[in-house]
Amino acid sequence: MKKDLILKLEETHTLSHTEWLELLGDFTDEERDFAAERARELTERRFGRRIYFRGIIEFTNYCRNDCLYCGIRRSNGNAVRYRLTEEEILECCREGYGLGYRTFVLQGGEDAYFTDERLCGLIKRIKSDYPECAVTLSVGERSRESYEALYKSGADRYLLRHETANCLLYGKLHPAELSLSNRMRCLRDLKEIGFQTGAGMMIGAPFSTTETLAEDMEFLADFKPQMVGVGPFIPHKDTPFRDYPSGGEKLTLFVLSLVRLMLPDVLLPATTALGTVDGRGRQLGVLAGCNVVMPNLSPLSVRKKYLLYDGKTGVDSDAAEGLRILGKQMEEIGYEVFVGRGDFSEK
Ligand code: SAM
Repeated sequence: MKKDLILKLEETHTLSHTEWLELLGDFTDEERDFAAERARELTERRFGRRIYFRGIIEFTNYCRNDCLYCGIRRSNGNAVRYRLTEEEILECCREGYGLGYRTFVLQGGEDAYFTDERLCGLIKRIKSDYPECAVTLSVGERSRESYEALYKSGADRYLLRHETANCLLYGKLHPAELSLSNRMRCLRDLKEIGFQTGAGMMIGAPFSTTETLAEDMEFLADFKPQMVGVGPFIPHKDTPFRDYPSGGEKLTLFVLSLVRLMLPDVLLPATTALGTVDGRGRQLGVLAGCNVVMPNLSPLSVRKKYLLYDGKTGVDSDAAEGLRILGKQMEEIGYEVFVGRGDFSEK
C-alpha cells in the first residue's frame, strides 16, 4: 500500500493529506528502502553521481532570537559569543576557493551588528573577488527591503527553514515574538525577489507529529523551494529541550527520499545533523536522494562555539581535512565531488 503511494508520489509529485498521513505513519525498513531506491534512481537520472559541495562559513553566533531548540539562542548564557571580521570571512573564502568550492554559504544567528550596509559590503567584496562563485545567505528573518538590498549586492541564494508549517507547533518551538506568518512572509519575499530559496524543517522536533509532518510536506509541495534543508532535531544541553530525544535517523532518511520524489529538481543537502546522529549519515542521505553536502569552512578556532546542538560532527577537522573526509565518504559509495556552482535548474 505504502509502495503504491511512493510510486504515485514519484509520478504525480503530489499526495492528498490523507495519503501523506498514511505514508508517513509507521513504515517498515523495506518501505523506506524502496523510497530510497526510487529517490536515488531519480537523483542519478537528474544529476548523475555528482554531489554539489558548498562551503559553510558560520560567521556569527550572536542571535537576538530565543528559539527553544537552538544552542545559540539569546538566553544561553553558556554560549561563548563570536563574530568573524570581514577579513576573516574573506580568508575563509580564499581558502575555500583554493580547495575548489564555488558556493559560499554565510550562516549566522540574527546578529544586529550585520546591518544591510555591512552585509551588502561583504557580499560585494566576495562577488568581486570570486565572480564565478555563488553566495548563499542563511541569516534569518529580515525586511523585504533588506532582502532586496542583499539580492542587489549579488547574493544568489537564501536558506530559511520554515521549521514547521503548523501554527501551534511553531508557537511551541519559538518565543512569542516570532510568528509563522512572518516566517512565511520572509519566504515568499525571498522567492519573489529572485533568490534560489531554501525552506525545510527539523525531523522529530519536540511536539511534532505525523500530522505536522504531513503539513510540512504539503507546504513544500505548494511553495516549491529550490532547496530543502531537512535534518534531525538534536537536543542541546543548554536549551529548554535538553531532555527531548533526537529525531529519528530513519524518519529523516524516509522524508528526504519523499522530498526528492516530490520535488525532483530540488537541491537537497545531506545535513551535518544527519552526519551527527550517525557517522555514515551523509552517505545514507546521498543514498536516499540527497545531492548536496555542506562541509565547514569556518576557522577551527570558532567551530566549537557554533553549536546548535550537542555532539556536532566535524568541529575538529580543518577545511581541507573536512573536505577530504567527505570526499572519501562520497567515493566509498560511488559518488564524486562536483566542483562548480551547482545552481538550481528545472528539467
Ligand atoms: N538564524 C538563521 C535562521 O533562523 O534561519 C540561520 C541559523 S539557524 C541556527 C539554522 C538552522 O539550524 C535552523 O533553521 C534550525 O532548523 C537548525 N537548528 C537549530 N537548532 C537545532 C537543533 N537543536 N537540532 C537540529 N537543528 C537545529
